[in-house]
Amino acid sequence: MIVQATREQIGRWELRSRDCKQAVCVEGQEHARYLLSAHAGHGGECQPYQDALSAVSAALG
Ligand SMILES: [Zn+2]
Repeated sequence: MIVQATREQIGRWELRSRDCKQAVCVEGQEHARYLLSAHAGHGGECQPYQDALSAVSAALG
């Protein structure tokens, strides 16, 4: 599945995942990749990063 996120979509993701303490509902792999890059280096305390990681590993099976 190749889906490019639109600017609007990325803007929404930014607004909803600014708080590293708040869980994020990952919409898909594109969103997961966005979260992983936006929150890279935040460490294990970062909830969006953890959510994205589990979404990616769930997709990989
Ligand atoms: Zn973070």
